[in-house]
Amino acid sequence: MQKVSEILQKPIFSKEDIVQLLKSENNDRQLVFAKAKEIKEQEIGNLVHFRGLIELSNICSKDCYYCGIRKSNKNFARYNISDEQVLKAAEFAYKENYGSLVIQAGEIESEKFTNRIEKLLQQIKKLSNNKLGITISLGEQTPEVYKNWFDAGAHRFLLRIESSNKELFEKIHPKNRNHSFERRLECLKSLKEIGYQTGTGVMIGLPFQTYEDLADDILFMRDFDIDMCGMGPFIEHPDTPLFEFKDQLMPLEKRFDLTLKMIAVLRIVMKDINIASATALQAIDPMGREKALKIGANIIMPNITPEKYRDDYSLYTNKPCTDEEPEQCKGCLDARIAISGNEIGCNEWGDSKHFKRKKL
Ligand code: SAM
Ligand code: SF4
Repeated sequence: MQKVSEILQKPIFSKEDIVQLLKSENNDRQLVFAKAKEIKEQEIGNLVHFRGLIELSNICSKDCYYCGIRKSNKNFARYNISDEQVLKAAEFAYKENYGSLVIQAGEIESEKFTNRIEKLLQQIKKLSNNKLGITISLGEQTPEVYKNWFDAGAHRFLLRIESSNKELFEKIHPKNRNHSFERRLECLKSLKEIGYQTGTGVMIGLPFQTYEDLADDILFMRDFDIDMCGMGPFIEHPDTPLFEFKDQLMPLEKRFDLTLKMIAVLRIVMKDINIASATALQAIDPMGREKALKIGANIIMPNITPEKYRDDYSLYTNKPCTDEEPEQCKGCLDARIAISGNEIGCNEWGDSKHFKRKKL
């Protein structure tokens, strides 16, 4: 077996190299983190950019086996934030110099929904004098819808592939046309063609998932040449079909640690992309997001959804900060980011350097 220190010197990693890095422990693990930190500092510096997160609605037409807000879960209240509340949250982000927003929701393909989003995007651009950058994460849509939203002002899109292994993808989704691996890939391609900064990601610690799958996920992101990544630990939800496999999962702390290693290895492989520090990390470790910022992540998504809705956007158990209003959340994050040795890039879009360099 090769030494981790030798692997880290290589210009290109093989799948086996990545598996070994992901399995690294003790001093070797520290070497991986130190290398990722060094690369982050060299390539993007120590600025962390904010995306004020608006969880627009928990109504979803899909039935992903892992997700607490899946269509078939009847154990909680569905909500749809009013347009007025969305614009109020956007105004808050603008005034607080967040620089950017993320709008996320369950997946709805209706014309009513897609028109509503288009209008909201235009209104957010207008109220912020075009100053707020907008990322959206609104699932699979037709290329026409993606184009309309792009023209209306969204310029970054996050659509997780969830797993790049088709077999594993099919195990964690119902087997029907509404949950197709091929369509997910097609959507990612069309987002890229339209000109979005395109982000994807995976869940880490899923049942049936192997280290080899995760290494393939990193290679998939490299080969697809993504601009941004949002990936986090899988956290089982009791009202979902995957809960049945809870005894087969690795312990939460291990899923947490493996997520940090995935972030670090991805940072080494894709030096100048944007990597988000997933909220799910904080559900496991109160300092989880800060730990990720230390070793490679550079984006954080403070929740600016009005407090009363946050409990109902329950993708997984133990979701953090559901009882804080946006103002409290911001004060707490400022301090946390300073602790992680980073600074906040106020009032900036914080676009993917990778995307910008590709365009040159
Ligand atoms: N509906 C859109 C979609 O699926 O792309 C956007 C919102 S969806 C809730 C955002 C992400 O939440 C998914 O891509 C998935 O990776 C993540 N997620 C859902 N259930 C999860 C769980 N139990 N543990 C960790 N992440 C989860
Ligand atoms: Fe819906 Fe997204 Fe959850 Fe799947 S992951 S059930 S598409 S909200």
